[in-house]
Amino acid sequence: MFLIDDLAKTISGEVVADDATLAEYSADYSLFEIRPLAVAFPKSADDVKALVRFANGRMSRGEPISLTGRSAGTDMSGGPLTESVVVSFTRYMNQVLELTGDHVVVEPGMYFRDLEKVLTERNLLYPSYPASKDLCAIGGMVNNNSGGEKTLAYGQTKDYVRGVRVVLADGEEHSIEPLSGSALQAKLAEQNYEGDIYRRVHALVTENYDAIQKARPKVSKNSTGYFLWDVWDPKTGIFDLTKLIVGSQGTLGLLTAADLRLVPAKKYSRLLVIFASSLKPVPEIVEAALACRPESIESYDDRTLGLAFRFLPQMLWMMKGNLIRLGFSFLPEVWMFIRGGFRYPKMVLLVSVSGNDEHELDLRMNEVHRAIMKFPVVSRVVRSAEEAEKYWTIRRQSFKLLHSNVRGKYAAPFVDDIIVDPKHVSEFLPKVNAVLDLYGKKFIYTIAGHPGNGNFHIIPLVDLKDPETRKLIPEVTEEIYKLTVEYGGSISGEHNDGLIRTPYLGLMYSPEILKLFAEVKKIFDPENIFNPGKKVGATKEYAFAHMRKS
Ligand SMILES: Cc1cc2nc3c(=O)[nH]c(=O)nc-3n(C[C@H](O)[C@H](O)[C@H](O)COP(=O)(O)OP(=O)(O)OC[C@H]3O[C@@H](n4cnc5c(N)ncnc54)[C@H](O)[C@@H]3O)c2cc1C
Repeated sequence: MFLIDDLAKTISGEVVADDATLAEYSADYSLFEIRPLAVAFPKSADDVKALVRFANGRMSRGEPISLTGRSAGTDMSGGPLTESVVVSFTRYMNQVLELTGDHVVVEPGMYFRDLEKVLTERNLLYPSYPASKDLCAIGGMVNNNSGGEKTLAYGQTKDYVRGVRVVLADGEEHSIEPLSGSALQAKLAEQNYEGDIYRRVHALVTENYDAIQKARPKVSKNSTGYFLWDVWDPKTGIFDLTKLIVGSQGTLGLLTAADLRLVPAKKYSRLLVIFASSLKPVPEIVEAALACRPESIESYDDRTLGLAFRFLPQMLWMMKGNLIRLGFSFLPEVWMFIRGGFRYPKMVLLVSVSGNDEHELDLRMNEVHRAIMKFPVVSRVVRSAEEAEKYWTIRRQSFKLLHSNVRGKYAAPFVDDIIVDPKHVSEFLPKVNAVLDLYGKKFIYTIAGHPGNGNFHIIPLVDLKDPETRKLIPEVTEEIYKLTVEYGGSISGEHNDGLIRTPYLGLMYSPEILKLFAEVKKIFDPENIFNPGKKVGATKEYAFAHMRKS
């Protein structure tokens, strides 16, 4: 109790340790459960600074505590879980600080749905939002390097972060942004804490440049490791430490603000919905669609679609429209299901294009449609935004539906974010399915994802009370991760490492690169105050000992 009282005295926000709060913060959307000691709700960057100084003080007295940042807690990797102190940002630090026509500076606790409203009113778009856009917040998006349905055309979060404000281990707030030329030289010459970090990381990335570049994952999206390969570009002379903060899961410091690049929103969009009765032609369909440079290619399988029908009332509620009209809009799919049974279609693909000229857009959509017509699939162009929303809702909400609705089973993310070059998908995906199918009903799973990037979210529904299933989860995890790496892929395209993937980073990266990751952690956080056991220093034993009970 002393610690919590002392902690509470250091900040103007609250520090809470009641049962209900600790239970709430024991979970995210991952496979794990860890009860924290306390949850702090800072009101400002000064509070965050005070928390870090407090942790430093305790550390020097040999009473270690650590600080784990948390925004909306929708992480699927166990990233915001800790036995020590959670620093929760959504209660207070949730404002837009600056907004112009091309960027926004925003606090980490702002829900994306609130930011989206502000941006939509101004015809602006932050394009790298995840499927959890109605649930998640900026701090988690930046710290996980989130991506989503528009990443195919626009890139991932790391491509949109212009700068960050972070409280580092010295207990001060630092502004970090890309530097080059004389600004970089001046920073490298600074004889202070920040200058020291710049010098040490600069030495690390320049001395190991070739090895680091070789280690860059050969996929279009990656959220594993620290993104060392993006820090230093000798061609432009740009040295960019934001690339280390983005995707770091709060292991290098606590984010207090992010400066995000925005793009003009496009006025119109068209959606081609493709119902494929087998997985076989899917890679070729994706290849044909990619040639037309669409904005996104998303997918979900027959089980996801079945789920959407099973929970139709919740789906309709999530779509927030005229319920009767929306209900009727599902009739074509219901009819298709009645005709073909529940295994038809095997996969639904959503290909979208957008633009400001409707005529030009229709021509582009026709081009995509023509490219697809040669395949043995049923397809239709959706022009109305309301009808398109129906398909997007199924795509975005399937995991949430699984998570909250299937009694006795848990939607367990452990092979939830694998990514390979799309050219390997036709060979790779059946092999992944074969691993899971081997265990029959123990691992009934849905597949949704971003086939345009070769990124698949596979979510098995498991009974976590069954000891046999609990034993199998680590085995299946390892087998599928190994398979992904054999195909040159990454074990996480966007959901990040957390507890579930940090222990497996050695499958993707050499001991030399793992050592560099550990050095980065040491440079920023020598006392291991920030979210320990994520990104570096994790074991499978610790992770699986904290698997949820149900
Ligand atoms: C239904 C559903 C769909 C999803 N779809 C996608 C998807 O399409 N793409 C995708 O990328 N992800 C997806 N996710 C995962 C998750 O929603 C995203 O990664 C999201 O961006 C996390 O945001 P959050 O605010 O919930 O983060 P949190 O869960 O709160 O935190 C995420 C990580 O960031 C750290 N962190 C948070 N705030 C701070 C801070 N201020 N300072 C330091 N560290 C901090 C935490 O410690 C943690 O490691 C999905 C999740 C769900 C439940």
